Amino acid sequence: MNAAALGLSPLDARLQGELDGFRAADLYRARRVVEGSHGVGLVVDGRACVSFCSNDYLGLASDPRVAEAARTALSRAGTGSGAAALVSGYNREHAQLEDELADYTGRARALLFTSGWAANLGTLRALFGKSDSLLCDELNHASLIDGARLAGSRYVRVPHADLDGFATALDDAKAQGGEIGIISDSVFSMDGDEADVPALASMARRHGATLIVDDAHGLGVTDSGAMRHADVYVATLGKSLGAAGAFVAGSDALIEFLIQRARTWVFSTAPPPAIAAAARQALQIIRSEPEHQARLHANIARFRRGIEALGSELPFTLSPSTTPIQPLIVGPAGPAMALSRRLFERGYWVAAIRPPTVPAGTSRLRVTLSAAHTEAQIDGLIVAIADASAHKD
Ligand SMILES: *Cc1c(COP(=O)(O)O)cnc(C)c1O
Repeated sequence: MNAAALGLSPLDARLQGELDGFRAADLYRARRVVEGSHGVGLVVDGRACVSFCSNDYLGLASDPRVAEAARTALSRAGTGSGAAALVSGYNREHAQLEDELADYTGRARALLFTSGWAANLGTLRALFGKSDSLLCDELNHASLIDGARLAGSRYVRVPHADLDGFATALDDAKAQGGEIGIISDSVFSMDGDEADVPALASMARRHGATLIVDDAHGLGVTDSGAMRHADVYVATLGKSLGAAGAFVAGSDALIEFLIQRARTWVFSTAPPPAIAAAARQALQIIRSEPEHQARLHANIARFRRGIEALGSELPFTLSPSTTPIQPLIVGPAGPAMALSRRLFERGYWVAAIRPPTVPAGTSRLRVTLSAAHTEAQIDGLIVAIADASAHKD
């Protein structure tokens, strides 16, 4: 039966065909509804579970002090910021947050964006153009890939974490002329490993290239050196800070230039002041209470010890990561989904990550640890993983 006979528009017929293909390949994606506030204990689709798939690494998304700061700002400043920052949307809360982020990162200035996506697209498009070369780690976040593409520069895909690859690409790029940008995540979001930021920085310096580092998964969690070494430092406020939005930090000239030219910033409504207030409070907690980071790292070590003690007869391999992102690489998408489902049935929520988010044949369970997890919750997850791995269905 053709599309018209089914009553489908040409668009819907095309989309339905593609959707059927995703389903057949175990690549169909769907959301689960979370009730109440974010945290390690969640009610999902009506049932209680322990979440191991959040980027709220320090548990600040449900910290009462952060919520209270947002509430206070809400009653003072209302909900929406009303306009883009260059028009009339730049609230005192935004200005103070930018000052505090500049101070925290040790940079002259910081500029607040509505999201990490907006920050990366707007910044790369503003700083680079057609005659330039962008050298990008192949596992960079999608927003860095799209930002580099949007800039229209020569896109050079460098093998993951390959310093020799970057060096060769730099030599090639110099021969082409134009500006050169080196672009990398600090902590890679699906693997949890870290870029060698100091090495990339010295390479950039030697060749007059600009180093752009996205520290979305490092800020507040682990120090890759990005704050000290990147010419353009990007990080988000929606992960370890438990709020939303993102920022770029760097020199005075960099920030002034982005204010003139970053289209995702110029033409976008400023974030709600209450979100900036929440991020300010979260930043203050990160700066004054190092115990959250210490507990997070103890939890990471406990998880790794637990998995290693299960032995080698497992349907996955544990990646060598020291960050809160602890992927269990399964391989094909179907078995990764099945393992995730069996864990969910046992009360543990661990997302399966499949292509195109990760390369084909490397589907995985992306376990993420939080400072808010208890030892009992981590031990419970290990038992559930052992049990779900032994169980075939
Ligand atoms: C999450 C993430 C982003 C996107 O940030 P949002 O604020 O969620 O849009 C950008 N880069 C990296 C490395 C990320 O992990």
